[in-house]
Amino acid sequence: MTIKNLCWIRRDLRLHDHHALSESLKNGDETYIAFIFDETILEKLNVKKDRRITFIIDSLKEIELEMQKHSASILIRFGDPKIEIPKIISEFGINGLYLNRDYEPRAKIRDDSIIKILQKKGVDTFTFKDHVFYEKAEVLNGQREIYKVFTPYKNKWLETFKSQESVLANFKCPLNKLAVVKNPDSILLIDWYKKIHFEEQSSLLKAGPSEAHKKLLGFKKYISNYKLARDIPALNQTSNLSPYIRMGNLSVREMIKVAISGTDEGHSTWLSEIIWRDFYQVILDVYPKVETHCFKAQYDLIKWAGSREHFQLWCEGKTGYPIVDAAMRCLNQTGMMHNRLRMVVASFLTKTLLVDWRLGEHYFAEKLLDFDLAANNGGWQWSASTGVDAQPYFRIFNPYNQSEKFDPEGIFIKTWCPELKYFSNKKIHYPHESDLVEQVEAKCFIGKDYPHPIVAYKTQKEKALAMFKAIS
Ligand SMILES: Cc1cc2nc3c(=O)[nH]c(=O)nc-3n(C[C@H](O)[C@H](O)[C@H](O)COP(=O)(O)OP(=O)(O)OC[C@H]3O[C@@H](n4cnc5c(N)ncnc54)[C@H](O)[C@@H]3O)c2cc1C
Repeated sequence: MTIKNLCWIRRDLRLHDHHALSESLKNGDETYIAFIFDETILEKLNVKKDRRITFIIDSLKEIELEMQKHSASILIRFGDPKIEIPKIISEFGINGLYLNRDYEPRAKIRDDSIIKILQKKGVDTFTFKDHVFYEKAEVLNGQREIYKVFTPYKNKWLETFKSQESVLANFKCPLNKLAVVKNPDSILLIDWYKKIHFEEQSSLLKAGPSEAHKKLLGFKKYISNYKLARDIPALNQTSNLSPYIRMGNLSVREMIKVAISGTDEGHSTWLSEIIWRDFYQVILDVYPKVETHCFKAQYDLIKWAGSREHFQLWCEGKTGYPIVDAAMRCLNQTGMMHNRLRMVVASFLTKTLLVDWRLGEHYFAEKLLDFDLAANNGGWQWSASTGVDAQPYFRIFNPYNQSEKFDPEGIFIKTWCPELKYFSNKKIHYPHESDLVEQVEAKCFIGKDYPHPIVAYKTQKEKALAMFKAIS
């Protein structure tokens, strides 16, 4: 009997170093690959112009081209995976379903239901760790519990890793064992945008595994300098790999191999960031409530005093705080934002505008090309001081100091707020403090060409402290 397996790819859009695919190819005679445009996810995206859809379709096109070299083709469907996966299983007489584990609450529920549906049909499902390096049960403290503080988690992660570096071995995916499929619905032939009711978008970032590898190689030039350069947005010397790792164009093991290829502080700091990624995945996996609630339950009692109007101005990059506005405009136009700026705008929204972190988190979720529930939620709750191992509530970023420190010449500000480009390096951080002569010289009138600050930082800081103290 020919053993036919189905590998269902989701947030792992590649054909190399792919755990589920590797096992499927190893354990079967023929492997089919499927991707489902999940209507339950897509219908939640209100804006039908979404760069992430283009990123996914472009990734699938590259995968399809590679598969066609082996007379294979991805089976693409649009609908509810709980219906579509069993349909494919029946249509092709599949013996086993292979997939990589996803730790998001809704994905876990979806996968569990599919596993049960298939069990009833006598089809086994095999799930694998791929998307993180270590799962929840692999890095535990002395009491066999998960860590809730990052530094000891990281130390244990590194200690465990030392004894297991061989795990970094590549998962081999011999594509000659893919099933031969003639597919009239190929992603290369059919206008899938039309089928799923979205519009193609232009993006600054080219999608797909080849581009991910190019970027990873390119980043090797900068990695030694990462510790120093990573906080300066205008330098753009972080890896910019987050959309690729989010969609799985690249495996986490490939990133770790680069991170451990050198021993300087640049390499070790970059490895720490990848460990933060694992940490937040574990938190979401074990505490799914963080999706809607503060990790520190007492902070669910906070009465966020901010207004909808201020939230809207924050979204549009019209707060009168140049570093915040530049960052938000960059997000709106590119779908990307530098990590330092994510912290600045998140702190500003929650602790200067006093707006509930959940609103900001949802806005990021709509806009970010690299949106990842675990990392986004972790980042927002860290900034708002409501999260696991978050910064204490009384540490409030001063947006002016952040601006002077991390964009000293205003290069980033000038790129995204061009109306401010003639202000001096000093005044670009405080354009509202310029006198009339300075505004004439800068060809920018505050209140007309660029807004006055919508709130006063110092007053708001006191209100934020009072808001937190009220429930602490
Ligand atoms: C409010 C807020 C929201 C965020 N939302 C997201 C999100 O939706 N998706 C996302 O991938 N990251 C998010 N981050 C984390 C971080 O900002 C991005 O991962 C980083 O900016 C991506 O750029 P890079 O690929 O150049 O990162 P690099 O600095 O090159 O880091 C390498 C990789 O490590 C991971 N990483 C880095 N920093 C973090 C972190 N703090 N937490 C978890 N993983 C990290 C990413 O996968 C990243 O690609 C958020 C941070 C904050 C403060």
